[in-house]
Amino acid sequence: MKRTIVMKVNTREPEIDKIRVAADLIRKGSIVAFPTETVYGLGADALNPNAVIKVFKAKKRPPDNPIIVHIANKEDVYTLARNVPETAEKLMAQFWPGPLTLVLKRSKLVPDITVVGLDTIAIRMPSNKVALALIRESMTPISAPSANLAGKPSPTTAEHVINDLAGRIDAILDAGPTKIGVESTVIDMTVPIPQILRPGGTPYEKLKSVLGEVELHPIAVADRRVRVIRARSPGMKHRHYAPDAEMVVVEGKFNKVVRKVQELANLYMAEGKRVGILATDESLSNYSSDIVKSLGTGKNLTIIAKNLFRLLREFDKEKADVIIAEGISPEGLGLAVMNRLRRAANFNIIRC
Ligand code: AMP
Ligand code: MG
Repeated sequence: MKRTIVMKVNTREPEIDKIRVAADLIRKGSIVAFPTETVYGLGADALNPNAVIKVFKAKKRPPDNPIIVHIANKEDVYTLARNVPETAEKLMAQFWPGPLTLVLKRSKLVPDITVVGLDTIAIRMPSNKVALALIRESMTPISAPSANLAGKPSPTTAEHVINDLAGRIDAILDAGPTKIGVESTVIDMTVPIPQILRPGGTPYEKLKSVLGEVELHPIAVADRRVRVIRARSPGMKHRHYAPDAEMVVVEGKFNKVVRKVQELANLYMAEGKRVGILATDESLSNYSSDIVKSLGTGKNLTIIAKNLFRLLREFDKEKADVIIAEGISPEGLGLAVMNRLRRAANFNIIRC
């Protein structure tokens, strides 16, 4: 166990003295959790293999899952990647800083471990001011996966990071809850038609309007477990976002879903299980079970995305044995939410 320093920072005007303490840690090869606009990340100097290996260990991250590299200047793309296509530059101009990660051909500068030996690198410029200040003061690109134990719901508050990683990492910058709540969209720009490997904070529809042509990787929209051999984004094949409770997602037309969710809740409760229902504002009043929580109104996917991981963790805290979740519309941010829900449930999906 090491001592984990926790520093509260102001999101709007990050205190430079605190940022410098964290940046010094990054520069000397330590690992620091910090807020981004999507979820909290666990940062290390992306160019220092000894630092990056600590991130894998602290998170218990599978050794074949590459890490996104975060930059504070668009120009840094050209030192980390080569053959950057014009389409990628278009996306950088339109969506950076922001929740979009570009997969590009890597340069020789990048150590093998950061990209787990792939010939590509995933790069993003976050918009969170604390994240940008930390990268700038560290004077190096920062590789950062989500700051949770591998497989658990991603952290959207510093408290989530503390629960998973206190004693395992050197410091945490606490700037309150993150704005978006789901991870960045990962898009592969090394293929003829750009392909979304992971839906996230930048919606498919927006990418399509800029690029014209975009594909969704079958794994990104899968509604069942897909066997993957040599995935281009190895992270896609691992168990993810999962609460401790067993989980099931019920998908289909609103009225049928509501009926099915309550029916399942009754069955589980009859078995003596403590049942949590993940509802929306529209369905909330229809349910009775041990715990009922609303993601927000189905009309506002931004709020739903923001609440998702926090609520999954709350069900665990309140000792739910089972979580029954309603499926939501896969439009806009809804696609990322459904991708996370289905994985959190380990593809335990009921259609009605
Ligand atoms: P996280 O671990 O939550 O930060 O998620 C990072 C995601 O980006 C994982 O799904 C990784 O597999 C993916 N990723 C990172 N680097 C690459 C890369 N070079 N090529 C393809 N996917 C990547
Ligand atoms: Mg993650």
